[in-house]
Amino acid sequence: MTAELIKGLEIAEKKRKQIKEKVEELKQQGITPGLAVILVGNNPASRSYVTGKGKASEEAGIYFELIEMPETITEEELLQEIDRVNHDEKIHGLLVQLPLPKHINEEAVIEKISPEKDVDGFHPISIGRMMIGQDTFLPCTPHGIIELVKEMQIEMSGKHVVVIGRSNIVGKPVGQLFLNENATVTYCHSKTNNLKEVAKLADILVVAVGRPKFVTADYVKEGAVVIDVGVNRLETGKLCGDVDFDDVQQTAGYITPVPKGVGPMTITMLLHNTVLSAECTK
Ligand code: NAP
Repeated sequence: MTAELIKGLEIAEKKRKQIKEKVEELKQQGITPGLAVILVGNNPASRSYVTGKGKASEEAGIYFELIEMPETITEEELLQEIDRVNHDEKIHGLLVQLPLPKHINEEAVIEKISPEKDVDGFHPISIGRMMIGQDTFLPCTPHGIIELVKEMQIEMSGKHVVVIGRSNIVGKPVGQLFLNENATVTYCHSKTNNLKEVAKLADILVVAVGRPKFVTADYVKEGAVVIDVGVNRLETGKLCGDVDFDDVQQTAGYITPVPKGVGPMTITMLLHNTVLSAECTK
């Protein structure tokens, strides 16, 4: 058996077209959705992510503002800048690109962002609302994963979802979103005993570990849905996921590739959140 490919890039492109149409409608009503990204320092990976967000925003017709601040900025100066953008009416979504320099407290920074503009969905208020199933900005990568599964018309209700990884930005929220869809969820992490055996119970296996080709076919039940969140740069310069794609595709029923799988959905859901925020100002 060879797994069916979950074509994240194609699904993301379809959704971005719909978002662009929504932006057009809003513009006709006099509202231009605006997204601001604060980039501190000059980390090349962060800069490349921010460039991608800017390009995608502009393609969708969203006003994009990049606010660059030097590595040496104090936490207080950054908090003041967030406060300014919180009150800027042109801006409906604000995010601070992570990671931040060590002398700045990330939690304090995230909490300073107005929950009304928290399009990354990282603010404790957004996370709390997500946990109790209220409308809120959902974190982009986990939300993108749920949208991929929905697009493939894969049933979630009653299914056993195993998530490997428990980070605040991927593992924990994606498990919660599957729970909200009535799945039965198991979280695994570096201290999990018998990881392979637990992973093999999954109808849907989500892998967010940050280790290239960590999951091989012996972690995967025949016919399972395998979602690979990992993005790892190999020495050759090529990107690779946390799943050994060639090995696992013989066993899985569905699989996301890396690249062109989960990745393109992350920015798509950021655009979605920005438009959602702009709509709320109507
Ligand atoms: P992270 O914060 O480093 O978390 C990794 C998780 O994996 C931790 O919970 C850790 O367990 C667990 N883990 C590490 N080694 C393990 C092992 N041997 N067995 C079982 N669990 C293990 O990473 P992250 O931010 O969630 O990101 C995960 C991956 O997704 C990375 O490759 C990242 O680049 C990628 N990512 C992609 C996107 C996208 O848009 N496609 C977005 C975000 C992240 P402990 O908690 O016990 O340490």
